[in-house]
Amino acid sequence: MPPVTARNLENLWMPFTPNREFKRDPAIFVRAEGLYYWTDSGQKVLDGASGLFCVPLGHGRPEIAEAVYEQLLELDFAGGFQRGHPKAFELARRVAELAPPGLNRVFFANSGSEAVDTAMKIALAYHRARGEGQRTMFVSRERAYHGVNMGGVALSGILRNRESFGPGVAGVVHMRHTGLPENRMTPGQPERGAELAEDLARICALHGGANIAAVFLEPIAGSTGCLPPPRGYLERVREICSEHGILLVFDEVITGLGRTGYNFAAQAFGVTPDILTMAKALTNGMQPMGAVAVAQEIHDAIVERGPLHQIEFFHGYTYSAHPAACAAGLAALSIYERDKVFEHAREISPYFLDRLFGLRDLRGLVDIRGYGLLAAVELEPRPGQPGLAGYETQKRLLRAGLHLKATGDSLLVAPPYVAEKTHLDELVGILRDVLSDPA
Ligand code: PLP
Repeated sequence: MPPVTARNLENLWMPFTPNREFKRDPAIFVRAEGLYYWTDSGQKVLDGASGLFCVPLGHGRPEIAEAVYEQLLELDFAGGFQRGHPKAFELARRVAELAPPGLNRVFFANSGSEAVDTAMKIALAYHRARGEGQRTMFVSRERAYHGVNMGGVALSGILRNRESFGPGVAGVVHMRHTGLPENRMTPGQPERGAELAEDLARICALHGGANIAAVFLEPIAGSTGCLPPPRGYLERVREICSEHGILLVFDEVITGLGRTGYNFAAQAFGVTPDILTMAKALTNGMQPMGAVAVAQEIHDAIVERGPLHQIEFFHGYTYSAHPAACAAGLAALSIYERDKVFEHAREISPYFLDRLFGLRDLRGLVDIRGYGLLAAVELEPRPGQPGLAGYETQKRLLRAGLHLKATGDSLLVAPPYVAEKTHLDELVGILRDVLSDPA
């Protein structure tokens, strides 16, 4: 391969990247295997973020690559509209088996963002099918991240979305986030903050619970800095939703499929939503795919009506349930099951959190948070320049051989589930070295 030069970086407009700065000082991965990347200069880099939370089995798994290759030769494309193929049905069955009880109807998309917007449309269609078309509002949270499509942008509780794109979809109201200063440096679920669920009761009192279609929550707010739910919080949100006939949607794009050490965070926290989105771990990052698991009564309310020749849910993507993605998904789920990978994640989580929280003595840290194999180390922001410390630190970490995602001034740590103690020691060791060096 010819060496990458500044000249041939120009045409690509990169996502969620400061493009000008990147192209002055690019970070280029050219190879990956197991828990490591290699850069174009030959440096070996530990993957402390499972790529973007989506490679829990480590890189280059031959079983998945071969399943995709064979699938493409056998049946490359079927098109999900009025045509099926066996692996789509089989993967839906396998996902339904893993999902919380009752969430046994599965709609496929190609990303987490598409899964979120699909879930919004399912919620609206459900209420309309039942004669409750006045339920058009959605509730989510400050500091939520629900992807980049217009629905998800409106749900997300992120200032940059409003600054860049305006108010977006109307009728979205946000509860407060649960990142309380009094819970700082608490591993796992914090004790304080369950009362923040009462924001939902206040929103129902103000806007009318009967006007709200759904509440969207990440059980652990992920992309904006890993906020595990305070004890009792999700339970109370569930209660209020049920009281008012509002659907509860868990956005488990990050937390789904093992990140908490359980199939889904719903099972980890013992709270069952009505609809659940997933994406990241579904194919081990080897094909794009997202999915929505839906309670059967919601599916039935939409599907069990109208003339038989009529499409019941007017929605779908050209690449919904693409055969290659389904093959990758089935292969990944088989490995999860065969090698008891989620159990390994659950068993190694205390070691991971213990090592990571061992950094609490370092200067310049505001907080450490974590649950399962997902954590954040929050750095003190530079005065007047929020996000700069996070950005610069992730660059220094990369130079030191560790790939992490920075979100604002939080460094997100999400090792592959197959990480062993030695990998976690290496990860925390590099973090300590870099964070101890004021640079
Ligand atoms: N929802 C949540 C909770 C996410 O964390 C993400 C991505 O990180 C998304 C949705 C969007 O997923 P994607 O980037 O695959 O569109």
